[in-house]
Amino acid sequence: MTQAKKISIVLSAVLAIVLLAAFGWRQKAQPAAAYFANKGVIFGTYYNIQYQAGADLHDSILAAFDAFDRSLSMFNSTSVISRINHNHDTLTDAFFEQMWAEAERVHALSGGAFDITVAPLVNLWGFGFKNREQVTKAKIDSVLPLVGFEKVALREHRVQKADERMMLDASAVAKGQACDVIAALLESHGAENYLVDIGGEVVAKGLSKHGEPWRIGITKPVDDPTGESKALQEIIQTTDICMATSGNYRNFYYEGGERRSHTIDPRTGYPVQHSLLSATVVASSCMRADALATACMVLGADKAKQMLEQAGDAAGYFIVAQGDSTAVITTENWIFDR
Ligand code: ADP
Ligand code: MG
Repeated sequence: MTQAKKISIVLSAVLAIVLLAAFGWRQKAQPAAAYFANKGVIFGTYYNIQYQAGADLHDSILAAFDAFDRSLSMFNSTSVISRINHNHDTLTDAFFEQMWAEAERVHALSGGAFDITVAPLVNLWGFGFKNREQVTKAKIDSVLPLVGFEKVALREHRVQKADERMMLDASAVAKGQACDVIAALLESHGAENYLVDIGGEVVAKGLSKHGEPWRIGITKPVDDPTGESKALQEIIQTTDICMATSGNYRNFYYEGGERRSHTIDPRTGYPVQHSLLSATVVASSCMRADALATACMVLGADKAKQMLEQAGDAAGYFIVAQGDSTAVITTENWIFDR
């Protein structure tokens, strides 16, 4: 090969590399996909979903909410869970069975503090779909035998109950589970950067439109029956996380000077009364975080801390009443600076 030929081969190779690099660079420099924000009301609370995608996905999100509602809504009389509660012969679906599996795990982990068969007690105390009655010890004693996860079973897509007056309540997992459902939907459309917030339960992934980790607020547990307070205890900046908060500062009422919270101890039949005002839990799914957060509210701070340490995939942040003020307790693996 002549010297000239060698030079020309090298030159063409260099040119090819330059062209390829320039073309690759042009491809990369294409404008990044836009961020969308979809907001609205669902399951009696708000949703706020932000994501980076090639198109607005709100219609698909609404369709997913609808499918979820037809499975687990307590307020939809034809949902799978409502039909089971009314003893109509009903086959369970995938949403229901996912819920059941997590409810079973958290029931065991919490020593029965978390229990989806709590519905008759929730109704008795006036937080469910029936009107509040005068609650007496005799009434509690008559309802307690209808509560207990060990008295129900899921076999071949059917729920079996020891007593047909037993009822299920998935409210303590549903919002978190719906966050997981929407996160999976966004991922199926290729989204890698998103924040799904349904009534304070959150799944965050990747970065916000500012190119930073997401900012997630932990609500201050001030009495707020209208749910309008926006006061925050603290804001954490983080990502790739599933987080849920349960508190007794929104859903409660006073009777005879006593505060009745919407978290009920299924073992005693009474609404819980202790110094734990709110529990924020991080776990491997938002459904699990939601169930664990409710379990924490039943157990109180000390036992809740032990439970989360046993969970293997969870961390917790508790706000407890201390005199007229509040204090924060966390599990040792709570990673955020305070
Ligand atoms: P929030 O996010 O509003 O604090 P939670 O996730 O703690 O709500 O769920 C509270 C709801 O769960 C109650 O309104 C009731 O329907 C149901 N619930 C109450 N006590 C229990 C319990 N011990 N186990 C499971 N579900 C419960
Ligand atoms: Mg919950």
